[in-house]
Amino acid sequence: MDHRAPDRAVLTGERGEDMNCYDCPGTPGPAVAVCIRCGAALCRTHVHESHPPTQDISGTGRASHEKPARHITCGACRAAETS
Ligand SMILES: [Zn+2]
Ligand SMILES: [Zn+2]
Repeated sequence: MDHRAPDRAVLTGERGEDMNCYDCPGTPGPAVAVCIRCGAALCRTHVHESHPPTQDISGTGRASHEKPARHITCGACRAAETS
């Protein structure tokens, strides 16, 4: 782990704006999204966005003309989903 100067207020116990990418080796980049499966914060390099059919909508019957849901996952979860 590298020690960056704590020049900014550390957000404690709150999911704030200052999250860093979980998948970045070395110095993490700023996170722009969060994996929906494992909750890892992800930068633009490591985020995987897909638009699977809205098959997880069940019961309400409103999936006919919905736009495909955005599906944000990290590399590990994407690999798990597509294997
Ligand atoms: Zn990253
Ligand atoms: Zn994940």
